[in-house]
Amino acid sequence: MCAENNQNYRTEEEAIALASSGGSTVDRQAARDAVASAFREEIRHAFEPGVKVMSADRELRYCLELQRDRLARRNLQYKEDMDPGKTPANSLNNVRSWKDGHYETSWSVGYIKHIKSAERAGMKSFKKTQPQQIFETIVDVCDGEDISGDTYCCPNCGAVSTIRELQEGCSQCGTSFKMTELYPKVANYYFVPDPAVSTDPLWKTAIRYGLRALPVTLILFLPMILLKTTDSSQTLKNLQWTVPSVQKVIAYIFAMIIMTPVIGYFLWILSTFVAAFRSVGKETPAALSVGNSRKRFAAQMSAISPEYTFETFSSKITTLFRILVFSDNKESLPFNAVKNIGTDFDNVIDCTFHGWMSCKDIRVENNIVYVTGDVYVDTTRDLGDRLKVKSEVYQITAGRRTDIPFSTNFSIAKIQCPSCGASFNSFKSKNCPYCGKECEPATDDWVLYDVRKAG
Ligand SMILES: [Zn+2]
Ligand SMILES: [Zn+2]
Repeated sequence: MCAENNQNYRTEEEAIALASSGGSTVDRQAARDAVASAFREEIRHAFEPGVKVMSADRELRYCLELQRDRLARRNLQYKEDMDPGKTPANSLNNVRSWKDGHYETSWSVGYIKHIKSAERAGMKSFKKTQPQQIFETIVDVCDGEDISGDTYCCPNCGAVSTIRELQEGCSQCGTSFKMTELYPKVANYYFVPDPAVSTDPLWKTAIRYGLRALPVTLILFLPMILLKTTDSSQTLKNLQWTVPSVQKVIAYIFAMIIMTPVIGYFLWILSTFVAAFRSVGKETPAALSVGNSRKRFAAQMSAISPEYTFETFSSKITTLFRILVFSDNKESLPFNAVKNIGTDFDNVIDCTFHGWMSCKDIRVENNIVYVTGDVYVDTTRDLGDRLKVKSEVYQITAGRRTDIPFSTNFSIAKIQCPSCGASFNSFKSKNCPYCGKECEPATDDWVLYDVRKAG
């Protein structure tokens, strides 16, 4: 049954759901696991035309759309593939989790061979392959019923759709809605190098390493046939160089080839140790500082809002930062209050989060809590004739009103321009795309106040 709806909703006016009630309780952990694996599949197609990554929350989904638009405008044939590893467990869910008054944030990890490639006429072709772990930050409400399958009647055209179908607007008339996120969703993701991830079976890896080392192995073990003892005691005294017989040489080569996988196996083990050691050296300072940050953040924020974890905060801010990086219309982003952002991000075509964000300062001024922290990213910039990957640190200050509580109660409202009446996605732009009128941005969410390069 359609509810009569003659109200003119202003852009930020919140309306109570008109949905038919009768939501069902769900196994939340099963739903989270499903979202994690759906995301790993969807992200592989994120840059294809028209694709919407529905397992991601609306910020991350928009971020991926903006990145795709930028790649298209720069004429880059950019491909990103994630081959699930053949490691015994190719994914693990709920490896860590944090719970607050409203949300439960958890990590899922997948083992992948990550292949990135980019082509463009006149540009040096770009290819990177690395065995990695992909971490997904999954945000979910602690408890609550699943209303995504409930039906809702579009107040503009009367079409009946499920709430799930309305996340990207009414499919019949295009009306946009401001609605509570349909959790669980992936809010953030990042990659950690993991040399132990292999998509090949172990014997193949061992042979590959062994063959690569064969020229060195052959020379290294050469003294075995070139040296012989001159006395009959077979000790290593009185060694003398000799010319080996043909049979000896053939037997030697044969033995070395048989030994190749064994040598390869030991080299592979050694290389994983070296790589792990190097990555620990690179990441440890950031990892330590984030450990302290979690405690500091929780202690300071508990006075303001007991229901907020550093995990929820950092995944949100990272995604907002990435939207800012990829947007070509930064002034109209409703969460952006950064002045003088400049053109530094205009040639960034990829920006991957390292997974560490340290928290430097928390202060409250005029009903707003300001949090300053460092975000560690790898940026890929388009320099015209080539792409350049660089590790960078940015210091971000984000703020949120302290007098508006967090709420997870479901609500949905039509978004309408107060000036011309058109419906548009006010999350993506604060300006009406039809008449240009600036609508007041949301007051119940985080705003970016400052972004600057650090270190
Ligand atoms: Zn409609
Ligand atoms: Zn308008």
